[in-house]
Amino acid sequence: MVNDTIVAIATPPGRGGVGIVRISGDRLAGWLPALVDRAVRPRQATHCRFLADDRAIIDEGLLLFFPGPGSFTGEDVIELQGHGSPVVLDLLVRRALELGARVARPGEFSERAFLNGKLDLVQAEAVADLVAADSETAARAAQASLQGEFSRRVREVVEGLVAVRVLVEAGLDFSEEDIELASPEQLAMRLEDLEGRLTGLMGAARQGSVIREGLRVAIVGKPNAGKSSLLNALSGVDSAIVSALPGTTRDVVRDTVTLGGVAFQLFDTAGLRDTDDPVEREGVRRAHSEMDRADLVLLVVDSQVAEVRDAQALVPEEFAAYARAGRLTVVCNKIDLSLLTAGIVGSDPPVVAVSAVTGAGLEVLRNRLVEAAQVRGGTEGAFMARRRHLAALDKALGHLQQARRNLATLLPELLAEELRQAQHALGSITGEFTSEDLLGEIFSGFCIGK
Ligand code: GDP
Repeated sequence: MVNDTIVAIATPPGRGGVGIVRISGDRLAGWLPALVDRAVRPRQATHCRFLADDRAIIDEGLLLFFPGPGSFTGEDVIELQGHGSPVVLDLLVRRALELGARVARPGEFSERAFLNGKLDLVQAEAVADLVAADSETAARAAQASLQGEFSRRVREVVEGLVAVRVLVEAGLDFSEEDIELASPEQLAMRLEDLEGRLTGLMGAARQGSVIREGLRVAIVGKPNAGKSSLLNALSGVDSAIVSALPGTTRDVVRDTVTLGGVAFQLFDTAGLRDTDDPVEREGVRRAHSEMDRADLVLLVVDSQVAEVRDAQALVPEEFAAYARAGRLTVVCNKIDLSLLTAGIVGSDPPVVAVSAVTGAGLEVLRNRLVEAAQVRGGTEGAFMARRRHLAALDKALGHLQQARRNLATLLPELLAEELRQAQHALGSITGEFTSEDLLGEIFSGFCIGK
């Protein structure tokens, strides 16, 4: 298929020493005589004049020509490096439009690189993350993903999975014939091994997502416990509504604070209580979904009414799972009224006593957040990952676990389906899954002979 030709200014808006216009399309070699005043060699910088339709000089500078498929997009690419003037760059874009290009959509060069198999989906996303990186750690992690580190590890798991699918599907297709099939024990072992690798990969991906997106912290608790006040005290901005009437924070407010080099996204949630008010009920529903997506839950309790000595007793049943997963910290607030000592007052789950009003204990709480980030963070050797990737890894793991748990009872067809779905989820990460891969693998791995 012949793609249309796209053009865009590649350098940031405004004036600069150099400005770059990039063009990508299927047949750009023919454009060169109309565009510049001299012959151009592929992949070499040529100093030349950039010409208008009437051969007037628009600018002079360097031209780079990368014939496809050996280019970023896989198509012919022309890069014009002229003076960094918005007017000149506009004229160059208009010249390309005259010659038949159209203005590129955001991300369209990377999209073409993906469609033409120059980058997988993770790498294409890493291009955007690298450009957007706001710390050295983030840049390094994006670079690791761009270099294919993450994709390679996903592919390793996919390969292992394909091998198991080959065994299972062979059992389906050739059960009548006299070939050796894998025993349930063998399958269980292999699935367990894959689960282990997937779990390791998820750990690394979670670190990557912390680098990229920060840690999500949901602040929850009964109405009037001081959630909004705590959020304001932590972020130092009056972004949440503080009120002495219970039940006023109906929406999820978001703020970002950077502590110890990690960004924390703080979400204030509606007070958790049963209510008949439909608006408030919606707020409570959102609070629960916010908690499920949070890396860390801060449960705020009023130290005047809570029995602080027993950390476990502070945690209502509905929070027990978060506590077991090490995602819950209890914040005993309003210690200025209860005269409790500021700081850590309990463990398992950790309990920090603070006053959102006087600021006592907040430093300890901040340190606790940073600590929690490090457990999840540890940014050495990380690659960039997004929540989409985490969700897909999680889904794949779910299917594998489902398959292994029910190995004895599951119909072979359903087992095969779980595995197929696991692979599909992983394939959605890199964007490279096709069922032909599997067929190819089956036929090359088995010597069936006909
Ligand atoms: P939310 O409903 O949990 O968001 O609670 P708010 O943050 O709106 O606070 C409820 C009331 O408690 C407000 O009047 C706050 O000023 C007050 N409050 C919050 N934290 C403290 C604290 O640490 N000490 C004292 N004395 N009052 C507090």
